[in-house]
Amino acid sequence: MNRSSFLKHLALLSAGTALLPRLKVFQNSPFTEIRNGIGTFSMRGGTIGWMARPGFTVVVDSQYSDTASDFLEGISRFDSGPETVLINSHHHGDHTSGNGTFREAGYRIFAHEQVPVLQRRGADNPDEVVAADETYSENLELDAGNETVLLKYYGNAHTGGDSVTWFENSNIAHMGDLVFNRLYPFIDRDGGASIEGWINLLERVSDEADSDTIFIFGHGNPEFGITGSSADLLHMRDFLSKVLEHTQQGISAGRSREEITQIESFDEFPDYISPSDFLSLPRNLNVAYRELTE
Ligand SMILES: [Zn+2]
Repeated sequence: MNRSSFLKHLALLSAGTALLPRLKVFQNSPFTEIRNGIGTFSMRGGTIGWMARPGFTVVVDSQYSDTASDFLEGISRFDSGPETVLINSHHHGDHTSGNGTFREAGYRIFAHEQVPVLQRRGADNPDEVVAADETYSENLELDAGNETVLLKYYGNAHTGGDSVTWFENSNIAHMGDLVFNRLYPFIDRDGGASIEGWINLLERVSDEADSDTIFIFGHGNPEFGITGSSADLLHMRDFLSKVLEHTQQGISAGRSREEITQIESFDEFPDYISPSDFLSLPRNLNVAYRELTE
């Protein structure tokens, strides 16, 4: 099915689906509802966002095959679909390794055009990669009944292919890994990341939001969680600005790469945690050093 007939198909199915489902969200369940049948699922890997309504199931990110199976089993109780869509926020394995499980369940996969390219480039066996059926370059709108789902590209940031997924009518946006909430982020320079681009993106997205917008984050410090407001986007923008500024000042003062990058924390950002060496301030500063010198 090509894109226009698919969208028409979605639009046709929307007739007579004004009623929202009564969601069953179980205690101690990885499913949490935010509002209007839209919520989060946390298990392992990047936070899954979901919309479950009569006629439609829209999912953002697929984690891993085992957690994807758990997700699909849980969502089946919500009495949503039969149109089923998976969006990949970007190519990283903790957001796309469950793609095959979703495809087997009949989901149609959407992503920015760079995502399949980057998935295959990073794979041991590119032929085994399960990538999007449909890609876009600037933005893509899906008519899912009484919800317009807008995938939007804002340029290089966490990777070269990040989408922000806006559930426009419900004023909720899934940020993928464009927000690590009070957690040193992974900045995938080899996968197209740009700290400067990321700063601009967070500012633009927060300009497009209002005080009622709720954002879903790919990862979060447990104390701060995986949902929040545009204030959290601007906090992350300020952190990334500090990373670039600190590095530029060190370079201008003639300090060595070692001296610039071997610090464990910034006094202004005491809440940031480092779950591993991989997600740490020295790592972030080394990427900034490369961005400013290469
Ligand atoms: Zn990522």
